[in-house]
Amino acid sequence: MTFDAEQFKANLTARLRRQYGKDISQANKHDLFDAVSASALEIIMPNWMETRREYEAKPTKQLYYLSAEFLMGRALSNNLINSGIMEQVKDVLKGMNINYDMIEDEEPDAGLGNGGLGRLAACFLDSIATLQYPGHGYGIRYEYGMFEQHIENGYQVEYPDNWLKHRDPWEVKRSDLSVTVKFGGQIKYGKTPDGQDRFYIENAEEVTATPYDMPVVGYGCNTVNTLRLWQASSPNGFDLQLFNDMQYHRAVERQNDAEDISRVLYPNDSGPSGKELRLRQQYFFTSASLQDLIHHFVNTVGTDFSKFPQYHVIQLNDTHPVVAIPELMRILMDEYNVGWDDAWSIVQKTFAYTNHTILAEALEKWPIDIFQRLLPRIYQIVEEINRRFMIELRQKFPEDYDKQNHMSIIHDGKIYMAWLAIHASFSVNGVAELHTKLLKEQELKNWNAIYPQKFNNKTNGVTQRRWLLSSNPELAEFITARIGHGWETDLSKLKGLEKFVDDEKSIDELIAIKLHNKERLADCLKHTQNEFLDPESIFDTQVKRLHEYKRQLLNVLHIMYLYNRIVEDPSYNPPARTFIFGAKSASGYRRAKQIIKLINTVAERVNNDRRVGGKLRVVFVENYRVSMAEKIIPASDVSEQISTAGYEASGTSNMKFMMNGALTLGTLDGANIEIVNEAGEDNAFIFGLTADEIIKINSEHSYNPQKYLDRSPALAKVVNQLVDGTYDPTGQQFKELYDSLVYGIEGQRPDVYYVLADFDSYVQAQEKVAAEYTDRKSWARKTLINIANSGKFSSDRTIEDYVRDIWHLKKVVVK
Ligand SMILES: *Cc1c(COP(=O)(O)O)cnc(C)c1O
Repeated sequence: MTFDAEQFKANLTARLRRQYGKDISQANKHDLFDAVSASALEIIMPNWMETRREYEAKPTKQLYYLSAEFLMGRALSNNLINSGIMEQVKDVLKGMNINYDMIEDEEPDAGLGNGGLGRLAACFLDSIATLQYPGHGYGIRYEYGMFEQHIENGYQVEYPDNWLKHRDPWEVKRSDLSVTVKFGGQIKYGKTPDGQDRFYIENAEEVTATPYDMPVVGYGCNTVNTLRLWQASSPNGFDLQLFNDMQYHRAVERQNDAEDISRVLYPNDSGPSGKELRLRQQYFFTSASLQDLIHHFVNTVGTDFSKFPQYHVIQLNDTHPVVAIPELMRILMDEYNVGWDDAWSIVQKTFAYTNHTILAEALEKWPIDIFQRLLPRIYQIVEEINRRFMIELRQKFPEDYDKQNHMSIIHDGKIYMAWLAIHASFSVNGVAELHTKLLKEQELKNWNAIYPQKFNNKTNGVTQRRWLLSSNPELAEFITARIGHGWETDLSKLKGLEKFVDDEKSIDELIAIKLHNKERLADCLKHTQNEFLDPESIFDTQVKRLHEYKRQLLNVLHIMYLYNRIVEDPSYNPPARTFIFGAKSASGYRRAKQIIKLINTVAERVNNDRRVGGKLRVVFVENYRVSMAEKIIPASDVSEQISTAGYEASGTSNMKFMMNGALTLGTLDGANIEIVNEAGEDNAFIFGLTADEIIKINSEHSYNPQKYLDRSPALAKVVNQLVDGTYDPTGQQFKELYDSLVYGIEGQRPDVYYVLADFDSYVQAQEKVAAEYTDRKSWARKTLINIANSGKFSSDRTIEDYVRDIWHLKKVVVK
């Protein structure tokens, strides 16, 4: 991109004058962030427009990535780096006496996602643009994203995330492309204005969907793709009649009801939401997106819809957008008069579905009554899809009524969205090798039996532009100094670093870089939370959503165990360790919230006991989010990936840590398995039961947690300390955690996630960590081997896999 420093400066001052009535000397940090971002967008804009022109001029197949979540984080640094103008912008600002780092920290995260699933969508967009593929994101412009987490008295307290308070300088509102989405009403059949007999809806509630576009800037190329997010509003504004009658509340009621649809992200990660508003959100953005795509198709190609699959592939990110399947049927049949068989054939060539979890509670099902009331015509179409499917099933399995019932898209009063997705899509993919294997052999084995050709694996990845180049500039420089540029767009090149594993100078430099990153994090947490961190200690980090299957409880029980040892035996002298946690819990997830309280309670005790003497510190980082991850991960020595084997579909933070030179302490779960395959067993710390072992214990109902308590007095002691007054004088605070481990409550088995079974093995792995860390050079050598072998975990590789096996896109080079 061409950068004109004088023009940039002129744009910057013009924006400040126009928007804030200020000159440079009067502008505060926020004004400057806004003006710098707006001026950068000016520079990016010609490429954005040219990319769109290019796609229109030569229509080829395009990807549409439908996702209820895009966890984008901050845009400024990413866009400056990807468009290649970071250094120039920094220079201009320096000339004006403005510190770039301060401005960067003014940008609120676009927290439009919960965790891994939403962040994956964001990494994919970055890779698609960088690899010059025509592909776009479609989602919801939530007015409030992921809640802001405060810790008060050790408890999580949620505050609204008003990220649009000061307008977003990156978004472009496209009112000209608004569409109408209809809810409710009655199904009618009859002549429409064009004289055709069709189904239509009467008395529907109409909601306007208005797109806001965000640029997705490719790295080192001119491609700028689009993330299109829909905002809901009422087409009628407020009711003037009611207003004139002085019924002010009722006058705006309908407006508020419409706007509520894009008001707030549901903060449930891999959990049920089951609320009607959530279904409204799902239909709202999928219907708007399909209307958008079909308008474009009709305008550019025409109404021969048999060509539709040549120009579109739609990837469904989990079941959240699966209602797009009957919606496309509806649009084709009811609005363009396509017959059922042709419409179904188009649908089957267009949709591909990604499964993200095998947790039963995360498989979306909608009660028929809610679904039918809200989307009567869509329900009718789902029924017809299922009626036809059941005819096939009865022929395949004539006597097997259990199987017929279980696989029916509608049963037990509910609509099974995953079943609809698998039946209608031409591709069903898992997100790591183990996950895909478990889908095929366990959770979805009936489906794999009838549609084996649909199932495939696409191991997740993360973008090295954000998670290495931008977040760890010193390590990026270290890499480039040794293997040159090129790894930014081809991460397999990192393999070239293996030449340096026995190079003393490289190892020393690597140690120094890690120390700097630890000092930077310590500095940041000093300012934000008044926490003291010793950069010489091991930074042992677990950052991810709080969920029982992720087993933060195992981590904290081990810390309680270490604390006991230190207090009981003053001669015990392990290397100093800092345990860092960051985690948000779903607002209604009681047990997860108790674990947060436990971590903070243990932190309070350990950090204030003088007998500990710097050997142990526990830090809970408030409000974990993308911008915080970018600071924590480069500063970490140990990457805690300790989920119960078989439960973490892939994980992606495990990959971010690996790239940044942290060693994995983990179970053989999700992508950890592939990480160890790449890095070598000696360069990670693996412990615990395997997925096969867990499946066996599960099926035999043979698990007895008491056995582990009897066998290990140290374990029995820490478990008992949950209720014996050590951490809570009443003994009640953590009683539910205790009961869930030892007895099992609310109809659950005891210790559902095998925390006690894996405890001893985890302690041993942690002892190995401590022992190996004392040889800093040998440790650093292992981190370099990890970095050198992290190439597989670039989302560029993942995207090339999707393109080759599912999407079949051609690169479009933008001049
Ligand atoms: C990468 C990332 C995640 C996913 O973490 P996992 O450990 O893979 O669950 C969640 N939240 C944020 C902010 C992330 O950056």
